[in-house]
Amino acid sequence: MNHKHILQHTIFKTIGACADELDMEAYVIGGFVRDYFLKRGDSKDIDVVAIGSGISLAQKVAFKLEGKPEVTIFKNFGTAMLKYKNLELEFVGARKESYTRDSRNPVVEDGTLEDDQNRRDFTINAMAFSLNKSKFGDLLDPFNGVKDLEKQIIRTPLKPEITYSDDPLRMMRAIRFATQLNFTIESKSLDAISKNRERIKIISKERVVDELHKILLAEKPSKGFSLLNKTGLLPLILPELTALQGIEEIEGQRHKDNFWHTLEVVDNISKTTNNLWLRWAALLHDIGKAPTKKFHKKIGWTFHAHEFVGSKMVYKLFKRLRMPLNDKMKFVQKMVLMSSRPVILSEEHVTDSAVRRLVFDAGDYVDDLMTLCEADITTKNARKLKKYKNNFKIVREKIVEVEERDKIRNFQPPVTGEEIMQTFGLKPSREIGILKDAIKEAILEGEIANEYSAAFKFMLKKGKELGLSVKSNKASKS
Ligand code: ATP
Ligand code: MG
Repeated sequence: MNHKHILQHTIFKTIGACADELDMEAYVIGGFVRDYFLKRGDSKDIDVVAIGSGISLAQKVAFKLEGKPEVTIFKNFGTAMLKYKNLELEFVGARKESYTRDSRNPVVEDGTLEDDQNRRDFTINAMAFSLNKSKFGDLLDPFNGVKDLEKQIIRTPLKPEITYSDDPLRMMRAIRFATQLNFTIESKSLDAISKNRERIKIISKERVVDELHKILLAEKPSKGFSLLNKTGLLPLILPELTALQGIEEIEGQRHKDNFWHTLEVVDNISKTTNNLWLRWAALLHDIGKAPTKKFHKKIGWTFHAHEFVGSKMVYKLFKRLRMPLNDKMKFVQKMVLMSSRPVILSEEHVTDSAVRRLVFDAGDYVDDLMTLCEADITTKNARKLKKYKNNFKIVREKIVEVEERDKIRNFQPPVTGEEIMQTFGLKPSREIGILKDAIKEAILEGEIANEYSAAFKFMLKKGKELGLSVKSNKASKS
């Protein structure tokens, strides 16, 4: 079948013409072709394979294009990249690869198109359109990728054992594509992934994390994590999550399976936010439950201080996976640390002071925290569900109300330490901290408004209680 009509962008004709002039074959291959058949919208990443030097082809193409875009050459890889309008084009010579056991970097030699297609990860990623004038738009699909797209199946071109063992990153990619596209991984493939799982260790953490990000950003991330679990990859990558699995029962008391609960929370939150780090927070919000789990005869199962323990674990996990130890990590930590706070509110009567405390502690992240906590509601009890949802609605309304009135977010003490020192003629001392804290508490409790004159009066009263006497004029006037 010919697919000329989809290659309307003039860039494809230009590449074809340049290839003809250089007397080489050229094809567009991989993701672009796959996404065309999936109608995933026009892919901006275009991979071009040349039977010959990809670099020479890129240079010739760039020379012909309007504005003569710059060509970036990666000599070690024999590839070249150029940006044109909103497209990113990558050129490579067709290659044949052979792998050694302990590296995912193969020995590479020049090859035919067929060799090149053989080294691709999946049948749906191995399809190519010809760009030379005489065959423009011809589809080359030696492994029936189009059929597999229809059947919604992830399958390898070669024997799965070989494909996954050669480059274990493909195990992550298989699961990632299955998650993004909601496809099924062929059972032979799934078996090969399980068998080769230990080989994930030769893959750099950064590549693994890239795939985890993509899984987390899918519409229904749980699919990916349950596949990682099923194939035995999960304990090698995120043992903190596998540790949440299972239900224990002592004296007839059971706790919920926190792994499956977590996946439900992640799917829930994915309906309301695309914030990658908030999704990470959902994934990790309960990890402290495994090390803190205890059974008590009287009260049953507890996970005492699991939020605190969990937030410490976030740091170690990020560090191990070489993820950034920056404000993103701190954000995830904060979410995990505070993850039970609004839940408590949702279960009882919601008071203004509890809401003020929540806003005070969460600061700018209070909305994200609410989003996380609402996603955390996975009860199957309709009555409870209604009650929690309704309470969350009240909390959200009160947050707005309290915020307008009391300006608690990014709280600044209305009376400064300086002023306390001046008023009572104090040197830096414990009393100042006590007074500042008492003022803050009074505001959060709603005893006084968050404003200067009320706070100043309150400070004078508290100071007297502490046995301090007023020194400055300003205070004696008021
Ligand atoms: P997306 O860009 O949406 O992640 P993609 O299929 O374009 O999907 P890329 O990583 O951009 O993925 O790779 C482009 C093409 O290169 C793939 O379609 C595939 O043919 C091939 N490819 C990429 N990584 C591998 C790999 N690890 N093993 C074999 N082939 C690969
Ligand atoms: Mg791509």
